[in-house]
Amino acid sequence: DRTQVINFGPGPSALPDSVLEESAKALLNFQGTGIGISEISHRSKEFGAVVKRLEQLIRTQLDVPPTHHILFIQGGGTQQFSSFVLNMLARYRLLHPNIPDEEHVMDYVVTGSWSKKAAEEARRLGGAHVNIVVDAREHSSDGKSFTGIPPHEAFKFSADPALIYYCENETVHGVQFAQEDRTPSSFPFHLLARDAPGGGAIPPLVADYSSSFMSRKIPRLADHAVIFAGAQKNIGPSGVTIVIVREDCLVDVDAAAKMGAAPVPKMLAYKTYSDSGSLYNTPPTFAIYVAMLVLERMENVGGLKVVEETNRRKQEKLYGVLKESEGKNLIRFNVKDGSRSWMNVVFRGKDEELEKQFLASGEAQGFKSMKGHRSVGGIRVSIYNAITEEQVDKLVSFIKEFNEKIA
Ligand code: PMP
Repeated sequence: DRTQVINFGPGPSALPDSVLEESAKALLNFQGTGIGISEISHRSKEFGAVVKRLEQLIRTQLDVPPTHHILFIQGGGTQQFSSFVLNMLARYRLLHPNIPDEEHVMDYVVTGSWSKKAAEEARRLGGAHVNIVVDAREHSSDGKSFTGIPPHEAFKFSADPALIYYCENETVHGVQFAQEDRTPSSFPFHLLARDAPGGGAIPPLVADYSSSFMSRKIPRLADHAVIFAGAQKNIGPSGVTIVIVREDCLVDVDAAAKMGAAPVPKMLAYKTYSDSGSLYNTPPTFAIYVAMLVLERMENVGGLKVVEETNRRKQEKLYGVLKESEGKNLIRFNVKDGSRSWMNVVFRGKDEELEKQFLASGEAQGFKSMKGHRSVGGIRVSIYNAITEEQVDKLVSFIKEFNEKIA
């Protein structure tokens, strides 16, 4: 049963037992209504309160300013790859009625397979030119692997892009931006054209936080135009995507279409959600409810600050023991120091035999889903919020013993 297993899967991933127990009860009888949470109307006052509460929990814990709306959308991170492009191109059309579509530019920072995929979707949707600000593979030792955040000098931003996209944590490759502003592996906010002294606003920044949302603070949150994250890693089941949108990016897409922009499906327009409190149509009610429980629990244990400190220690311990393994030439890291993810710890065994042995002995201890993504191979341990420090300690002891047994 669950007590014998630790789920290190990359997503959907572990959720806290107490939340699952409460959700199970609510499936039968939600807040004493006699109706289950998956059966109750999304227009009921009870469910309306859930949506408001979830919004408030995100707003207070992440310190989201009143300039930014918090929307709940179906379709996952992948749908956002299309939505933010359409919304931001419509916005650009309204701001610059006389610049032809072919001259619209979207800037993409490519640091792993998810940002690569996002850039491909932008190209598919056509119209504007996709400028690759930086392709991290070109800065790796073999010229073709995603192994870290390139130095700031490598980022070539456009003069006036409709958007600048980056993926804060690359789930497959285990590459994450550092948080200390202006260190070489942080996001180079200071290089954005108009962020220079005497300059104006930062161009619209769009960030994919799918696999790091609510695991630590978001640097310069207020400077972002759009931040999105599927719930299914840190805060809930799949089905709901949290999208934080700055006021000026809640675009009147129909007005933009009248001026020649591509028509935007109603359900992809951010304004549809902000105008209706995310209740334009039936939302993913159960996922929203569970996410609310996860964040309530998070608030009760001290909020984002405490969770961030726990996550800091978890990854320090895990990378610590893995550095010992590296010192014994048992493993090597794919990602360079400084760009290693707090959430997805990715490494290779010295050979495939050792990787198999590691995964099999781990499995025997109940450590599940540690196999690396098929495109990368090796091992990936995902330690999202619901993985406790004690569970990481168990894994660390296992790795220590494994090292001794092998060496
Ligand atoms: N972006 C990132 C960073 C992801 O990890 C994922 C999912 N693993 C996605 C986007 C796609 O999300 P979804 O499956 O919800 O469409």
